[in-house]
Amino acid sequence: MKMLINGKSVEACNGEFFDIINPATGERIDRVPKGTENDATIAVEAASSAFSGWASISPQQRAGILYRAAGIIRQKKDELAVLLTREQGKTLAEAKNEIAGFTKVLEYYCGLASSFHGDFISVPQNGYAFTVKKPLGVCAAIIPWNMPALIMAWKIGPALISGNTLVLKPASNTPLTNLTLASILSEAGLPSGVLNIVTGPGEVVGETLVKSPKVKKISFTGEVETGKRIAELAAGRMKRVTLELGGSDPMIVCDDANLEDAVLGALRGRYYNCGQTCTAVKRLFVFESIAEKFIKMLETGIRNLRVGNGMHENIDMGPLNNHRQWEYIKELIREVEEKDEGRIITGGRVPEGSAFNKGYFFEPTLIKDVPRESRLLKEEVFGPVLPVVQVKSLEEAIEAANNSSYGLGASIWTKNLDQAHIGFEQLNAGIIWLNQHLKVAPEVPFGGTRESGIGRENGPDALSEYLDLKTVMIKT
Ligand code: NAP
Repeated sequence: MKMLINGKSVEACNGEFFDIINPATGERIDRVPKGTENDATIAVEAASSAFSGWASISPQQRAGILYRAAGIIRQKKDELAVLLTREQGKTLAEAKNEIAGFTKVLEYYCGLASSFHGDFISVPQNGYAFTVKKPLGVCAAIIPWNMPALIMAWKIGPALISGNTLVLKPASNTPLTNLTLASILSEAGLPSGVLNIVTGPGEVVGETLVKSPKVKKISFTGEVETGKRIAELAAGRMKRVTLELGGSDPMIVCDDANLEDAVLGALRGRYYNCGQTCTAVKRLFVFESIAEKFIKMLETGIRNLRVGNGMHENIDMGPLNNHRQWEYIKELIREVEEKDEGRIITGGRVPEGSAFNKGYFFEPTLIKDVPRESRLLKEEVFGPVLPVVQVKSLEEAIEAANNSSYGLGASIWTKNLDQAHIGFEQLNAGIIWLNQHLKVAPEVPFGGTRESGIGRENGPDALSEYLDLKTVMIKT
């Protein structure tokens, strides 16, 4: 596939390409241009030239185009899901869910087309004021490989409906679905230059976008360290940023929780997308009085998960997305064993058999008796490994849950409303679930505190991340 710049499919200026690998089979599925600084600059110019035309049509006209695109994507959802599974590794069911999520987010923002107008404000003894909301101009979106379609929608939905133009840099492991979705948006009538996709290394293409004087805002999703680098570059240029970074979400299971529900929540919360979700359950705290029963039930559930190529039927968990992530998980488990940092109850190995020879597979893993200082609890474990810690009380659970540099999501599982309220009040997280985990919806604001980021996506609040507010005061 080629990049999309100014409505055209183009190669990189230097003519170089890089391969896209299927993480389940190790096979090359395609290649994409290895974009350069020059390509990123050309894309910014295209977005800049397209801005005034796109900003001057009504939000309803913009919504018309985006609605049309969502309709085409829905018709093509099966082939898009296959592409996503082949480049990302997730199961076909997960991929279909993600493509459906893309259309829902796009349609949600189309529905807000009439909502982002300014306000009238009466000013006593003076007169009145009014506010005007304007798009920012050219925005850059830099996205990761774990949910490339959904995260693309979280960025293009609010950015485009509010009249901005965009240059998007996909993750180098998963650009194919992004490129295909962008070409469908063009097919639906999105004017040339409004959405441009530049593939290539983050340090080159991403940083050029962040540094470009014509880019007014950067919306980034990815690792904390990359986010800090982007924030540093953006601060020196006084640019707006949204940073959606990593997480190490705690799940607290109280002694009165519905254990069947909590087991299903932990299974989905941890092993969905092979554990590569920013708001996955990454640390599980369970009350001592129910721990043995709960862990046994969870172990049974994990042993029933079927691991394999996401393209095949009846598979619950595909491979990790890439070699780096696979090596990280293997190394983490080696360290747990060498340092005796917990007891592996199930999993902990690369599955055996010819079906697993060439992919980045790892067994869904459950580890108990994990000491508090373990890397399993300190780092963001982006893979199918769940550490369990037993706690005596809610107070102890919350203290342990908050002992993290992250603050993305958290969940509390209880039937007791008082306990739930203590959790809502005291857990340090941008999103807190009661008796569920992982669920997101286009209308619900999403984002983290602490090192998990700055700003919010989804919901009406995300629009203000892409709009400039001008105030006019009038004396009467
Ligand atoms: P990453 O390594 O930070 O990469 C994310 C994106 O940034 C990629 O497109 C990457 O390009 C680009 N990039 C790398 N270095 C850059 C630089 N110096 N300047 C500009 N761009 C640069 O993250 P990842 O490994 O792809 O994604 C996993 C992380 O994303 C996890 O920490 C996860 O929790 C987080 N995440 C957060 C959310 C949220 O909403 N909070 C959602 C999903 C994922 P290349 O691919 O070319 O390196």
